[in-house]
Amino acid sequence: MSLDSSHRETAGASSTDPLEERLTFSGDNTFHRELRRRVEAEFKRTGTSQRDSPRMYLKTAVILAVFALSYVALVFFAANAWQAVAIGIVLGTATAGIGFNIMHDGGHQSYSAHRGVNRLMALALDLVGGSSYIWQWKHARFHHTWVNVAGHDSDIDLGVLGRLSPLQPRRPWHRWQHIYLWPLYGVTAIRWHLYGDFRDMITGTVGERPFARPRGWDLAGFALGKLVFFTLAFGLPLFFHSIGMVLVFYTLVSAVAGLLLALVFQMAHVVEPAAFPVPDEALRLDTPWAIHQLQTTVDFARDNRALSWFIGGLNFQIEHHLFPRISHVHYPKVARVVEAACREHGVPYLVHRSFAAGIASHYRLLKRLGRPVVAELDIVPVLIAVPVATG
Ligand SMILES: [Zn+2]
Repeated sequence: MSLDSSHRETAGASSTDPLEERLTFSGDNTFHRELRRRVEAEFKRTGTSQRDSPRMYLKTAVILAVFALSYVALVFFAANAWQAVAIGIVLGTATAGIGFNIMHDGGHQSYSAHRGVNRLMALALDLVGGSSYIWQWKHARFHHTWVNVAGHDSDIDLGVLGRLSPLQPRRPWHRWQHIYLWPLYGVTAIRWHLYGDFRDMITGTVGERPFARPRGWDLAGFALGKLVFFTLAFGLPLFFHSIGMVLVFYTLVSAVAGLLLALVFQMAHVVEPAAFPVPDEALRLDTPWAIHQLQTTVDFARDNRALSWFIGGLNFQIEHHLFPRISHVHYPKVARVVEAACREHGVPYLVHRSFAAGIASHYRLLKRLGRPVVAELDIVPVLIAVPVATG
C-alpha cells in the first residue's frame, strides 16, 4: 500500500496517478501553512510526540480484550437468548470501537511512527469484515481529499437509496429518506461484509471512481482477511449452533456496529452547516484544500470525554481532516489551536455542541434534500457555511 492521504493540498494537480481525475483546489495554501506551523509549535512547546501515545496502546488492548471476550462468551457460554442478545450488543459495540480507534488511526498512519505498526493496526479492519486495502482508497483517498464533492467523495454515495448532496438526482422515494435511512444504516456493515468489497474488486471501482486492484501481498492480505472474518462470523459458530441462530446473531452484531459507524461518520459532513462545493467545468474548486476541509466538516460534542474515547476522537473531525497523521488522542489540544486560528482569520469553524444536536441536524438535512423543490433553491441554503453552528 503506498497511499498517503496526509496534506493532499494539491491533490489531482500534483498526482501522477493515471486513475486520478484532475480535480484541483485553489493553490493558495497560506492558511494551511499557518495552521501547520501553530500545531507543530504546540507539540514542541508541550514536548509531546504526535504518534505512539501509550494511551493508544492501552486503549487498543482494552478494546481488543472486550472484543475477544464477548466473542468467546457469545459463541461458547451464552446460557439463554437474553444473555446472548446483551453480549451481541457488546460485541457489535466493540467491533465499531475497533473501527473508530484502532484501524482508523493505523490506516491514516497516525497510530505510530513505525510503518509496520500502522499496517498491523489497519489490518484490524480485515478481522472485523472490511478490506483495509479498499478502505485506503475509499476513505483515506476519495473521501478525505474530496469531502462532500458529489461524484468524488464515495462516503456521500448511497446510490439510488439516498440523496446526501444537493447535486445528486432526487428520486420520489427520497421524500421519506429522513425516516427509512436510519434502519438502513444498520445494514451498512452487512452490505460491506457480503457485497461491497467484492463488488469493488470485480468492477475495479469504488463508487463511481476507479482504483488499482490489490496485487501480491495486498491481494493475499485481502483474501486472508476475508477467510479469517468468515471463519469467525460463520464457520466456527456453525459447529456449535444452528444456522438460524448464527444468522440472527451475525445480523444483530453487524447491525449494532454498522449503525454506530454510519452515525458517527454522517455527523461529520452530512449535517446542515456543512457545504457541498461544486467544481467548475475545468474541474477546479475555488477554495484551497484546508479551507475546503473546514467548510465541509463539523465537530460535535467536543466536551463529551466518554464519547471522544469510544469514537476515537471522531467528534473532532475538523482536526482529523486537517491533521490525519496526528494520533486522535491529541485532537482536543489541536482543536484549541485550530479554532483560535480560524477565528483570527475569519475562516468558518463549524461545531455542534452535542451528539443529539448533530443527529437532529442530519435528520433536517435529509428531510430537506428529499423534498421536491427547484434545484437552485435547494442548493443555496446548503452551500452557506455558517461560522459556528450551535445547538
Ligand atoms: Zn479518516
